[in-house]
Amino acid sequence: MKAGKIQDQLGRPVRDLRISVTDRCNFRCVYCMPRQQFGAGHAFLPRRDLLSYEEITRVARAFVGLGVKKLRITGGEPLIRHELHHLVYELAAIPGVEDLSMTTNASRLTREMAHTLKDAGLKRVTVSLDALDDRTFMAINDVDFPVGKVLAGLENAEAAGLAPIKVNMVVKRGVNEHSIVPMARFFHGTGHILRFIEFMDVGHSNGWRLDDVLPATQVVEQINSELPIEPADPNYRGEVARRWRYRDGGGEIGVISSVTQPFCRECARARLSAKGDLYTCLFATDGHDLRHQIRDRRLSDAELQDHIASIWRRRADRYSQIRTEHTVNLPKIEMSYIGG
Ligand code: SAM
Ligand code: SF4
Ligand code: SF4
Repeated sequence: MKAGKIQDQLGRPVRDLRISVTDRCNFRCVYCMPRQQFGAGHAFLPRRDLLSYEEITRVARAFVGLGVKKLRITGGEPLIRHELHHLVYELAAIPGVEDLSMTTNASRLTREMAHTLKDAGLKRVTVSLDALDDRTFMAINDVDFPVGKVLAGLENAEAAGLAPIKVNMVVKRGVNEHSIVPMARFFHGTGHILRFIEFMDVGHSNGWRLDDVLPATQVVEQINSELPIEPADPNYRGEVARRWRYRDGGGEIGVISSVTQPFCRECARARLSAKGDLYTCLFATDGHDLRHQIRDRRLSDAELQDHIASIWRRRADRYSQIRTEHTVNLPKIEMSYIGG
């Protein structure tokens, strides 16, 4: 097939590929990998089931041929995967990749690691941090991991030039909503972009209830009353986070209102799980097994690209727009597996 742009059933191109490199994590965030479900008895993927770096690169290259410009490495915790910089190096070398980033909990982002990743071609990182006080943060990560070590990882990323850095804060009502303004104050004027994410009903293990979602409008109100903000234009069409800028020139924040103001109409994002399943929606119940196509059917690069194109052309997902009590209870795939 001739490489080029493709569209799904709703006229959406594919621009963005998220690559999960592992389903494992050293945290047990209550909204993602709650200890009750991801305890000692949990069966993580055996190593042979994971796509190799070479296989991931083949899939990424096929996507880039179909219009993808942005790649993001995620997980699980991506820095748990051995020698991640080898993958970064391969992905950065694909012609047509304009942005290569990684989402991480920063627990393993040492100074050396940050430089190694930068040298391999990583452009920037997003660091997840849900509170500034240890009590709240430890209650969320559930492994007693202190805030200071995440901030140290963030500083290492900054020193290595993995910037601009985004900071993801998942807001759960009654759990960390008191951290909204302190987090905003802390990152105001630093050049880091704090993004508030509504707690989502990904997977089926995090006990999601609509009552636990603090609507993004309330986040904006809280911040605006302390640090006045005004809306800013999106950086590009289909940007997931709505941008707000501080009126005093102290930078910007983003709010991701996937639950209360869904953005499916513009969703141009594909997700590749650690074992090679392609998901065309964060809330999908089924993936498309690309590992089988690569390992067993031994598709050529051109055939693989054709195969992916045919999946994308059939895509009609718009889960967040049609979220109902029924869909919330469907057996959706877990965030740690599919990648956030
Ligand atoms: N372990 C890495 C990290 O935490 O940054 C990368 C993977 S994590 C699944 C990616 C992002 O998804 C994180 O920023 C996390 O906060 C977010 N996330 C996980 N579960 C979520 C949920 N139920 N609702 C909203 N965001 C969630
Ligand atoms: Fe791990 Fe990230 Fe999920 Fe937290 S959000 S459990 S750090 S994968
Ligand atoms: Fe995209 Fe699915 Fe999220 Fe809608 S619900 S924005 S289609 S990932």
